[in-house]
Amino acid sequence: MKIIMLGAPGAGKGTQAKKIAEAYGIPHISTGDIFRANLKEGTELGLKAKTYMDKGELVPDELTCDLVVDRISKDDAKNGYVLDGFPRTIPQADALTNALNARGEKVDFAVDVDVPDENIINRMGGRRACVGCGATYHLMFAPPKKEGICDVCGKELILRDDDKPETVGNRLRVYHEQTQPLIDYYTKAGVLHTVDGTQDIDKVFEDIKGILEA
Ligand code: ADP
Ligand code: AMP
Repeated sequence: MKIIMLGAPGAGKGTQAKKIAEAYGIPHISTGDIFRANLKEGTELGLKAKTYMDKGELVPDELTCDLVVDRISKDDAKNGYVLDGFPRTIPQADALTNALNARGEKVDFAVDVDVPDENIINRMGGRRACVGCGATYHLMFAPPKKEGICDVCGKELILRDDDKPETVGNRLRVYHEQTQPLIDYYTKAGVLHTVDGTQDIDKVFEDIKGILEA
């Protein structure tokens, strides 16, 4: 099962992708997580990506596409995967389509988690990420068991720099300009499904399971 998650930043793609990965035993591949892990390790890719991420801009396609094509060629991805945060531009979607076509494969489901911009601002302001393992929480909607501490690894939870209000507006603008056209792209490919992402986390997941198991 090859699934891609679409939706604005903060719509809940990562939250749902983790649940899908766990329920169906497929890897969760998040380009945002890959860039942040690279930054933590101080790699050249991480340092380059940071300059774009800090401004709420997209990392250039040439730094992103090969990385994903390599990752989905790994052994653990042969029964499928859930891509979270990729593709984000038409050239990225074309790169994915071409890589899959070359192997006689295709995306099976593009799940658009639909949340209006006005809800996004709240979502991002309340998101907290673990400095250790990258797990995400929400102060109000998905709080950790102990305030400020990660349930998974016990490290500190922080507000990501790019979740600060001054950057969120730009990320939404970039989403509407560069990523939203993918809704049309995957509608034309006949694989687009939309879920109402304003519902609570478990209800959104129920709706996604309904789509994947229809
Ligand atoms: P994305 O991966 O699309 O950027 P996340 O999955 O990180 O978004 O979700 C953004 C924030 O909103 C997180 O703090 C998360 O805990 C919270 N969240 C996710 N889904 C919901 C939901 N259905 N209702 C309320 N809060 C949610
Ligand atoms: P995310 O964790 O998905 O919210 O991504 C955080 C940031 O990483 C984005 O705002 C972009 O700067 C960068 N990023 C993640 N995925 C991509 C992608 N597919 N293309 C370009 N930039 C990306």
